[in-house]
Amino acid sequence: MDNLKIDLPEAVKFIIGRLEEAGFEGFAVGGCVRDSALGKIPADWDITTSARPEKVKELFDKTIDTGIEHGTVTVMIKGQGYEVTTYRIDGEYEDGRHPKQVEFSDSLRLDLERRDFTINAMAYSDKTGLIDYYDGLGDLGRCLIKCVGKPEERFDEDALRMMRAVRFSAQLGFDIDEATYSAVCKLAPNIEKISMERVEVELMKTIMADEPAKAVLYHDSGLFADILPEADRALNKKYREHTVYMLENIRKDKVLRLAALFSMTDYRDAEACLKHLRMDNKTKDQVGGILRYSKQLIEEREPAVREAIFKQGTEQMAYIFDFLEVECKAREAVTGIPISARKRHLALLKNMFDRIIENGDPTSLKDLKVSGNDLMKYGFKGREIGQMLEKLMYAVMDNPKINDKDTLLGMLDILK
Ligand code: ATP
Ligand code: MG
Repeated sequence: MDNLKIDLPEAVKFIIGRLEEAGFEGFAVGGCVRDSALGKIPADWDITTSARPEKVKELFDKTIDTGIEHGTVTVMIKGQGYEVTTYRIDGEYEDGRHPKQVEFSDSLRLDLERRDFTINAMAYSDKTGLIDYYDGLGDLGRCLIKCVGKPEERFDEDALRMMRAVRFSAQLGFDIDEATYSAVCKLAPNIEKISMERVEVELMKTIMADEPAKAVLYHDSGLFADILPEADRALNKKYREHTVYMLENIRKDKVLRLAALFSMTDYRDAEACLKHLRMDNKTKDQVGGILRYSKQLIEEREPAVREAIFKQGTEQMAYIFDFLEVECKAREAVTGIPISARKRHLALLKNMFDRIIENGDPTSLKDLKVSGNDLMKYGFKGREIGQMLEKLMYAVMDNPKINDKDTLLGMLDILK
């Protein structure tokens, strides 16, 4: 079972080789071993070593002190960075968040023991082959997320691991081992100790995964009950079917997946939740905008669609159409009642939208053939300028053919 062969990248072989020549141990470890064993291409390669950080720095030409106090040095090879971390024993965790002190060790076994899940606790080098003390390979085969050691102790040390369990289950499509999941349910309230920034990272990784519906575990386990009540509600029994349909059927885009998560939530509550998560303002506004605008009706006329683009922007309108299309299907799926009239209406609007974009119709002030400067030359001042530009904008959205400088200047007197 343990004779798995991993094709290490040249740079990783080089780093491990140099560590070994100098009398140390070195292994690829964690996510890269897990992904390789699954036949996936790892996003990055982490290395674990018996060498202390100062030694690692001596052995390689170009290094960056990434987290030297935690034993991590980034080794640069041909412009790419590889994190090389000294074997660690994580001391007791202060407040379930940070290890109080990090202790270096000479033992790979202890380093693997501190890692969260069996599938993340495997190491590999060409010299030794796979090192798998906790049957990570077996759990990969069984499609299980299972703690290394006693789940309750591990979640007590670091509450974030509970969210990581859900996240990996969404990314890999795995179940969470029974004892591990029971411990999540029991210790869920401890998630409160974790900073919202870290919660956000795990939540985003979960809903951007191939099985975003695993996010329901955040509700079922109680992880979100206190920290994110709005998201918790979106995943409860009453709204779950709709929310899950949305998550599973909307394309993999950060804004759209968040809008899907909150598709049964009032936009103000969704925005409050995103603010609480410390989400950047742009994303928060985009998601809130989709939820709010999707409730409004647009007339089936090109000028009305151009006006909607003018108000929302092209990117946001495209989001809204993507969202509405899936939302319509979600409603059909949940109620079992076809809603063909709304579908036709949306298809028609989307068609107009595509045509407007294709034709390059005026939909923003910069498309207008008259500028604020032009208006100043005609004696407009201060707020009048913006007001007149807007009037001209509405005129050209009504009829794009009149978007011509002379025509528009000729209209100034009438519009004033
Ligand atoms: P990915 O980078 O694809 O999200 P990963 O498994 O590489 O997944 P990282 O967060 O990059 O995850 O962590 C690298 C490794 O460090 C993990 O595989 C695991 O062995 C260990 N690890 C990370 N975070 C924790 C934690 N909170 N508790 C215990 N071990 C952890
Ligand atoms: Mg990683």
